[in-house]
Order: sequence, then structure tokens, then C-alpha cells
Amino acid sequence: MSTSVLVINCGSSSIKYALVSERREDRIFGLAENLGSADARIKGVTTGGAALELSIPHADHEKALETILERLAHHNPQAIGHRVVHGGTLTKAELLTPEIIERIREATPLAPLHNPAHLVGIEATMRLFPELPQVAVFDTAFHQTMPSHAYRYALPKFLYTQHNVRRYGFHGTSHAYVSERGSMLAGSFKQGGWLTAHLGNGSSTCAIWNGQSVDTSMGLTPLEGVVMGTRSGDVDPSIHSFLASNLGWDIYKIDKMLNSQSGLLGLSDLSNDMRTLIEASEQGNEDAALAIEVFCYRLAKSLAGLSCGLPRIDGLFFTGGIGENSAYIREKTVSYLPHFGFNLSKELNDNLKRGTEGRIDHGTGPQIWVVPTDEEGRIAKETEHVVDEVTASATKKLDAEAAIA
Ligand code: ADP
Repeated sequence: MSTSVLVINCGSSSIKYALVSERREDRIFGLAENLGSADARIKGVTTGGAALELSIPHADHEKALETILERLAHHNPQAIGHRVVHGGTLTKAELLTPEIIERIREATPLAPLHNPAHLVGIEATMRLFPELPQVAVFDTAFHQTMPSHAYRYALPKFLYTQHNVRRYGFHGTSHAYVSERGSMLAGSFKQGGWLTAHLGNGSSTCAIWNGQSVDTSMGLTPLEGVVMGTRSGDVDPSIHSFLASNLGWDIYKIDKMLNSQSGLLGLSDLSNDMRTLIEASEQGNEDAALAIEVFCYRLAKSLAGLSCGLPRIDGLFFTGGIGENSAYIREKTVSYLPHFGFNLSKELNDNLKRGTEGRIDHGTGPQIWVVPTDEEGRIAKETEHVVDEVTASATKKLDAEAAIA
């Protein structure tokens, strides 16, 4: 592999990694899971595409990262890019310095499940590889271009000014990549108005005008917005007082229910996995059928709502495990948006090969595309960009000092 960037995504008991080559065509990737337990292991794919499975009993994040890097050292990565869910008000990817690490720590109350795990990974890689430039790429950064009328809640002002309570949005790396790639395929690179639907276990929508996010479905946390695998998406906020008063539930129980027991799983009482639900619905399971209908209807409603942020709609991009693979969900969603002039081609939609990009409309009305996301590739690109910028500015400073001397 030529020059490469190691992309790391640290969760509370897992680490996803990918070594991405400069032209993004080569990937070595894997997952360290069950960290801290006897069953800790690394599963992945090596350079030649062979499967890798390595037991690392009781390994913590640092030990797992050490093992991953030992295996990849001969590829000589030039930099490390860390996925960080919440960057607070940071507007772009940043070189990791003590100040930026502190800003990530300060954003922890806004992403209590994610940011602490990212910090463990960041601190471990900085101890292990102090000589490598390391960059944080934030899920929230792409949405920092939203205007205030899109990101403010109609709540007392001090909650925003003193406690940062506002809409941030997530999946920014994916929405940025997909809208850039999709608009390029459509022949209007980063121009015009586009809607993106990132549909995986977590799902969100975004409106993009001339390459910038102008609104998105997720808010202060990734719970707001469309129906997801186990997350409810939008509900009446009074549900908290209703459940507290009538069922005696506390805030933790309600939070757990909304995040882990709702969405497709809650509606179907069967599964959070869309494939399972489609199969069950085909076999006559009415709860599964309803879960799918609510998912598609609420998704269409979100896209229609976000369209208010766009002067015009040039098209819609589907991505994520569901968006890339399910012609059925794409068709059902678009069927709820006839008044936007979308004209989906059943033939192109049904025949699009899984995991490939392609246009799926009749060529009249706004375009509809499937664009497989590439969050690792995008993180690698942003990491390289930050490292190049820092190097260029250091060289400029040295030149200026030499000129003075
Ligand atoms: P994550 O958010 O965890 O990255 P993914 O983007 O991998 O999730 O998406 C996972 C979802 O994609 C699951 O609900 C899975 O059922 C769904 N999915 C994958 N393939 C298909 C398919 N062929 N048809 C319908 N849903 C699919």
C-alpha cells in the first residue's frame, strides 16, 4: 500500500479500524470486539483479502490498538484519523492537541455514550504513537452550517446560551460524502439542492444546498428524527411526564426505552433488523408490516419537512445498509412523495446491484440515486487535508522566520 491513513472508531467495548490508501482503492479493515472480556478478539481482513481472527483475551483498548498497529506497522501509516461523534461547536476536522482533546471532553454531556470511548482510543493512540499526526473528524461538524432557525429549539434562550442546548445533527461524515459523490455523479458537483437519507441501524436525513448542510433530522442527540432500529425518533416530549405520572417510570427507564426498545424493534415486537421485518411481513406478520410502513412514512415526512430548507430540489440520495440494499423500502418511501415530482423507475430500482451506485428514476423530475456511503474514506480524506494544512502552515512559518533572520 502507498501512503495511507489509519481510521479508528472507538466504541465502549469495540474498535473498528480501516487502513485506507491514498487513492482509497485499497482497504485493510477489521473490528476488535468484546474488549475487557475473556472473549476479546480481532476479526478482519488482511492485505490480500484473507480473513483474520485473533484472540486477545482480556485486552483493553490500549492493548487492542497496540495489536492492530503492530500488524499494520509495515504499511507505514502517515496519520491516524479518529471518528468522534460529538464535536460540540467545532466546525471542522481538527489536529488533536491538548486543547482539542479538552473540547471533545467538554462535549461529553452531549454524547455520554460515545465521546468517553473515543477519548480512551485517542489517549491510547497518542501514548502509543506520539510521532504520528492524529486528527479528530466529527459527525456533527458538517451540520455546523445550519442556520440558527434550523438549529434552535423553541425553548428558553438561556438553555442555548448557557448550556448549548440546540440541534447538532449526526452522520455528518456520511451525508457529506454521499452528497458530494452523488452531486458529482449527477453532473453538478456540490451545486444545487439535495436530500440524503442515511438508513442503517441509526438513520437520519439531511438537506444540502450547494454542498452545505442546511438542516438535518437528528438534534441535540441522535434520538431525534426518523424511526430507527431501536430508537423512537420524534415523539411528543410529554411522553416523559405521561410515563412518570401514570407508570411511575424514572428518567433512566424512559431514556432506555426510547433509545434501545423502540423504533422498528418496538413497533414490530420482533426485530430491529429490516431484513427480518421484510421477510416476516411477506409471511403475513402484521406488526412487521406496520413497522415498515411507519418507517417509510415518517422518513418521507422528514424529507418533505427538510425540503423547506432548500430553494429547489435537484434530487434524493439513498445510503446506509437499508438505503443501499432495499429496493422495497426506497420504492415505498418515494411513493409517499408524489407531489415533489419524484418518478422512480421500478425496473432500475429493482435491478440495481447491491452495494453499487446508480440512478433509479425515469429521467423526469428530481433525480433519485443510490450512493453507497464511505465514512472511512471520507475520514481518511479529511485527515490528510488537516495534516497537509498543518504541514503547509509550519513550512510557511519556518520560511518567514528564515527571511527575518
Ligand atoms: P449501522 O448503522 O449499524 O452501520 P448498516 O448501515 O449496516 O447499520 O445497516 C443495517 C441495516 O441494514 C439493518 O436493518 C439491515 O437489516 C439492513 N439491511 C441490510 N441489507 C438489507 C437488505 N437487503 N434489505 C433490507 N434491509 C437490509
